Amino acid sequence: MKKMSIKLKIALLITVFMIGLSAALFLFILLLSGANTSRNRSETLTSAVEENVGEVEYDDGELDIDDDFATYRNGVTCLLYASDGTLLYGAAPDAKLGSATLTGGSVRTIVAGGTSYLLYDRLLTFSEGADLWIRGFVPADASTLSSSAVIGAALIALPLLVLLAAAGGYLIARRLLRPIRHISETARSIGTGTDLTRRIPIEENGDELHELAGTFNRMFDRLEANFAAERRFTSDASHELRTPVTIIQAQCEYAFENATGEDELYEAIGAIQKQSYRMSRLIESLLRFTRLDQHTEDIRLADTDISALVTDVCAEQQQMAVKGITLTCAVESGIVLPADPDLFARMLSNLIGNAYRYGKENGHTRVTLKREERVVLRVQDDGIGIDAEDLPHITERFYRASKSRGGSGFGLGLSMVSQIAKLFGATLHITSEPGVGSVFSVVF
Ligand code: ADP
Repeated sequence: MKKMSIKLKIALLITVFMIGLSAALFLFILLLSGANTSRNRSETLTSAVEENVGEVEYDDGELDIDDDFATYRNGVTCLLYASDGTLLYGAAPDAKLGSATLTGGSVRTIVAGGTSYLLYDRLLTFSEGADLWIRGFVPADASTLSSSAVIGAALIALPLLVLLAAAGGYLIARRLLRPIRHISETARSIGTGTDLTRRIPIEENGDELHELAGTFNRMFDRLEANFAAERRFTSDASHELRTPVTIIQAQCEYAFENATGEDELYEAIGAIQKQSYRMSRLIESLLRFTRLDQHTEDIRLADTDISALVTDVCAEQQQMAVKGITLTCAVESGIVLPADPDLFARMLSNLIGNAYRYGKENGHTRVTLKREERVVLRVQDDGIGIDAEDLPHITERFYRASKSRGGSGFGLGLSMVSQIAKLFGATLHITSEPGVGSVFSVVF
């Protein structure tokens, strides 16, 4: 069975609620009108009886009933009795009504012939004759008339009300759910189409649904940025691989077709080997990158003695110093942080490697690990520095500053450093002055 839409469900709920509410309202009116009418009835009954009181008297010991004595007035039937209960005047429609014990006081209810009556007895006392009773009664189901009127009105109004509630409910639901329709339409068109720039229209100061639409829009922003980055990464990686492959092909063709002597062949093989090493380094970097990205690398963040680790990496890197660069290390002891030792070593080696690569002849590179407000690992060099326009892009994948293009790097190192820092919950900050040097700080 097809599932009912939220729109229909809301319309149905509103309709059911409205029916319930109207039914309760009708019942209330019914009870109220019933109570009112029965109070009115009882007043009509007593006043009809009281009006007849003055119409009965004794004249020289003879009972005189005035013509104005009304046996039926305003729906009230009145009867006159002698004090022993003998009916003197008027006729009761039901024997029980006529023979019920005469009791003065208040209005009471009596059932006779299946109908309920309000009954009122009034004692008349005279100085010159025997006491008399006037009895008045009126159907107690006084609300019958107005109840049936209310029920009749309800029977006409209720279906109308149901129709109105259903139509109103449907329109309200449609209006309220319009943003959801926009959300699902946009999400569907993004899912099936190629246009990732589409967004859900949002009203300023909108309700919760607009907030939801805003959340979706932010998610679409992130998706779009991620897709763009992935596309760029693939295209950059292919581009980087194409250069060595082209050189290898050209060298092979040259060697086959033009190389005359052994020297030329060696030269070609040497060029091919260089490019294949480059390719192999690039492929290795790409693999590491992908593993980091997809979290397939086994990352264990355990409490690690960072001080000892930095000292070890520094000692190792001192052996690999180039261009007469001196590497010095100042490490505060006993700093322990949750980190993966292998990734941490890779991050620091990358930074020191860059300091060597972009350092000046006989320059200095300084590594410090200190507990300031937070723990900070710094790698400072006095190399070529980074131009201000390159600085914001330096951690982007495949980005190389104009000065270093054509070098042996791929522009993946710093991107990996910042990604590893992020994994440790740290951030990479870079300051640099062209010609003076650069400082790379990883703040934990
Ligand atoms: P690469 O493999 O090209 O070194 P990186 O991501 O490590 O890639 O660095 C990106 C770019 O940042 C480099 O091409 C270089 O221009 C610049 N760079 C990185 N480290 C330094 C540094 N210590 N001094 C000057 N420039 C640097």
